[in-house]
Amino acid sequence: MSSGTVYCYHCHTQHPREEMRLVVSKSGKRWRCIASIKAAQKSREEREAFGRKVSAMNKAEAQAKLKARTAFANQTALK
Ligand SMILES: [Zn+2]
Repeated sequence: MSSGTVYCYHCHTQHPREEMRLVVSKSGKRWRCIASIKAAQKSREEREAFGRKVSAMNKAEAQAKLKARTAFANQTALK
């Protein structure tokens, strides 16, 4: 093979040259495969989406609790 393989710092293995991307990190330029970059992006998006969902849920729950507490306070105040 003329293009050869490049060592992937992420997978610690060789990949075909055409599946690699040169990425710049703090320690310098490194070769990383496109598959691992895409996988990392996808998992980050999923994590962020999950985080947004959780914080929205927590907010809704906090508001519901506050509402319930306020309603209870109003109820007891009327008695
Ligand atoms: Zn790789």
